[in-house]
Amino acid sequence: MEENSNFIKTIIKEDLESGKRDTVLTRFPPEPNGYLHIGHAKSIVINFGLADEFGGKTNLRFDDTNPLKEDQEYVDSIKEDVEWLGYEWEGLFFASDYFDEMYDRAVLLIKKGLAYVDDLSADEIREYRGTLSEPGKESPYRNRSVEENLELFERMKNGEFANGEKVLRAKIDMSSPNINLRDPVIYRISHATHHNTGDKWCIYPMYAFAHPIEDAIEGVTHSLCTTEFEDQRPLYDWVVRETEMEATPQQIEFGRLNLTNTVMSKRKLKQLVEEKYVDGWDDPRLPTISGLRRRGFTPEAIREFVKAAGVSKGYSVVDEQMLEHFVREDLKLKAPRTMGVLRPLKVVITNYPEGEVEWLDAEINPENPEMGTRKIPFSREIYVEQDDFMENPPAKYFRLFPGNEVRLKHAYFIKCDDVIKDENGEVVELHCTYDPETKSGSGFTGRKVKGTLHWVDATHALPAEFRLYEPLILDDEEESEDEAENKSFLDQVNEKSLEILNGFIEPNMKDAQPQDKFQFFRHGYFNVDPKHTTEDKKVFNRIVSLKSSFKL
Ligand code: ATP
Ligand code: MG
Repeated sequence: MEENSNFIKTIIKEDLESGKRDTVLTRFPPEPNGYLHIGHAKSIVINFGLADEFGGKTNLRFDDTNPLKEDQEYVDSIKEDVEWLGYEWEGLFFASDYFDEMYDRAVLLIKKGLAYVDDLSADEIREYRGTLSEPGKESPYRNRSVEENLELFERMKNGEFANGEKVLRAKIDMSSPNINLRDPVIYRISHATHHNTGDKWCIYPMYAFAHPIEDAIEGVTHSLCTTEFEDQRPLYDWVVRETEMEATPQQIEFGRLNLTNTVMSKRKLKQLVEEKYVDGWDDPRLPTISGLRRRGFTPEAIREFVKAAGVSKGYSVVDEQMLEHFVREDLKLKAPRTMGVLRPLKVVITNYPEGEVEWLDAEINPENPEMGTRKIPFSREIYVEQDDFMENPPAKYFRLFPGNEVRLKHAYFIKCDDVIKDENGEVVELHCTYDPETKSGSGFTGRKVKGTLHWVDATHALPAEFRLYEPLILDDEEESEDEAENKSFLDQVNEKSLEILNGFIEPNMKDAQPQDKFQFFRHGYFNVDPKHTTEDKKVFNRIVSLKSSFKL
């Protein structure tokens, strides 16, 4: 596994060995404008994991420089998700904690002749910026005096101008081959209430200016981010140097994690939530951490998956089946086995005495005998799966059909004698006979049957709802931040992504709690849904089926 070495680890190791650094401090810096997704888990595992390996620490810092999009709900969910993934932050900070210092550093740039107030509109600034092949043009306001800039910047802060009327720009180089250095905007006006600072500010720093200052204030040593920020690294270094920060954090970029059959940008996730394609940010079909949690994925599985996907600079799309592989691995020995019938068909065992019940012994997990045994009732009426009966079966069908004998898991062999139909010709009940000699565990070897079916006793069974999921988005999709229209991704939404079934479970499941996980024989791993489960009826989310073609 990649865990042993990666290029970031190599850099950190060299920095410590050469004496360039004597400690390691990283940070995970989400913007609280949505819920975290599995891509963020990669950043979390890298930041916390690497620091931990070198005896360092990691801060959780909310990058809240855009008041219009941010919200306390997101702050709370992000904290919950990071903790649930199993990480403990050192400091908990908000970029907004540093607004005063950022303002002072901007003033310092103005005084050094390295920043100016510009009156050009956003469109004009874009036009003046030039392209990769053409140098930019200088703004007519570029050469304002320091005094005028100081005064205008203060008036911006005091709320004397409307949104968009003025900006503060760094004065770097309009002909730089790196467009990020063509006098980037570092402050904008936004008359908006901030989730943390309220109405104290009406000017807000831009990410490219704010982020390096945040890192430097906290003494971050290695500022790990995704590759779309690679071209901003020279600006990052420029800001640290020219604002005269004491610390010198180093930005290092790694490739984003992408998954097949889903969307991963917060903007798109938000749209799916707001337009009610899904049942909230924690919908079990979403790749959000809260959705994965509600679906039943475990922190262990997510961490192992992220580590196996590896840390590299390249762009990669990882097959979602790989995530499923890791949750099966994690649950294999932990999840109790049980039986549930998702689409019930009544079976009457005509030669079983009426009113009698026997309690059969069954292992809770044959792969982990330490988990002990459970009791399962068996009596004259049971449910089996509708799919496990065919009146006119094809060749090699080994389940129930008239005249055929099968094994009931943990119980007896039964043979199908009669098929009862309603007036529409639908099969509503089977009449079978059982052979008392064939009791499971009795050592019976008289004859063999090929099919083993799961079942539940009809008089003791508890009702349950089962939710089966398919991918929410049907095509593999390459995400790009600047994808102008999102029509295409909504067109790919799978209308059959959720199937709800009403069936039955073993009575010993009555105490199962929300978030408990089970392996239902033949159906896969399921999680007790915390949102829809009631006193009367448990709801189970299928995490994954049992089979996979995936090979690591
Ligand atoms: P999105 O585009 O999905 O909204 P973002 O990058 O805007 O994500 P932030 O809240 O700014 O989200 O991200 C916090 C940290 O998580 C950043 O360092 C970012 O680079 C990292 N991150 C976000 N998405 C991914 C991903 N898919 N793979 C790896 N790291 C990611
Ligand atoms: Mg972002």
